[in-house]
Parts: sequence; structure tokens; C-alpha cells
Amino acid sequence: MIPWLKRTQLLRWLPDAVVLTRMSRRDNTLYLTFDDGPDPRYTAGLLDLLRMHGAQATFFLIGRQVERHPQLVERILAEGHRLGNHSYSHPRFNGLSLAQKMEEIDRTDRLLTAFDGIRHHAVRPPSGAFSLVLTLHLARHRRRLAYWSYDSLDYQHRPADELVERMRSRPPRAGDILLMHDDSECCTRMLGVLLPEWRAGGFRFAALPA
Ligand SMILES: [Zn+2]
Repeated sequence: MIPWLKRTQLLRWLPDAVVLTRMSRRDNTLYLTFDDGPDPRYTAGLLDLLRMHGAQATFFLIGRQVERHPQLVERILAEGHRLGNHSYSHPRFNGLSLAQKMEEIDRTDRLLTAFDGIRHHAVRPPSGAFSLVLTLHLARHRRRLAYWSYDSLDYQHRPADELVERMRSRPPRAGDILLMHDDSECCTRMLGVLLPEWRAGGFRFAALPA
């Protein structure tokens, strides 16, 4: 796999219609995204926090989890958030053929469509695995990948206050797409501290465009 720094540089050369890596720096908006849910232990608490702060976000859902927890998907939508496609079973995409990757993506799109009526959802491959073949295939069918410009590192299983300190020392900028995960309570704990601070700094929080 291409190391992350090189990969972001590569991705930024591609047009936004093909790969979204960040949004306009002009609006004072941060784009919160959460991968790997819906999770019966953690997603509801995160939704409570987002509602408390009037924050909208995008949830990149795993299809298998959608089948298991449909009521959480309904709640995500009812509270104004948007859905993204994070594959059906979260496999290692680098070991799959294009047909296998598309089966993972299409199966999840069909599940998500049943909830929000949108035919195609932005795709975030598991672990952000990048493939030019998949990217071009999706682009040919007017479908888009969605990556991120700011990695919260919440998947490193460090204490939440350590992550908060690191994010304070390297704060996100307007237009950043923030990568987080709702399969642990880490993101809820760190956002409980940071959302009020970011709001006081003039930011609003929005879902990615459909
Ligand atoms: Zn994931």
C-alpha cells in the first residue's frame, strides 16, 4: 500500500467529482465522518452528543452492521446525518479483485438505498485502501470515493485525553474532512471536549454533500 502521505498527495491531484479529500476552506465548516458503524454499544451515545451540539455528520456504514442494527440507521437519518458506504464486510480491499470490491460496495449501496432512497453513496474503502483501478471504475459510473484530510487517530486505542491534546496542538482547519470511528467510545469522549471548543472558535459541523 502507498504510505499515507504520498497517497493523500496523489489523491489531491484527482478531481473532487472522482475523489473527495477535503472541502472548501472558505466556509467555516468541519466535516465530521465516522467509519465502521452502526455499533450497538457506541453509535447512540455519539448521536446524543451530536444532537446536543447541533452537529451534522456523515456515517460510513458497514453493510453487515446495517443489517444487524437497522434502527440505528433510521435514527442517524432522522437526526439529519448522511450515509456513506464502507463496504459490506470490511475486508482487506488490497487482496480483492475489482469484481469482489464492487460486490462489497454494491451490496451495501442496495442496503443503504432502502433507508435513504439515494442510489449511490460516497465510498470509503476499508482502511482507506487506494486502488486506481477501483477509483477509475467508480468514476466511469459517476460514483465517488470519499477520503479525509484530517486523521483523528482515534483507532490507535490511546486515552481520549491524549488524542484531545494532540488535536488541540494540531487543530483542524475549515473544510477539513475528519476521520473518526464509532466502534469505540473514544470519538464520543474526545468530541465531548472538542466540539464546544471548535464551536467557540467559529466552526459549524456539516455532513458531506450527497
Ligand atoms: Zn473501517
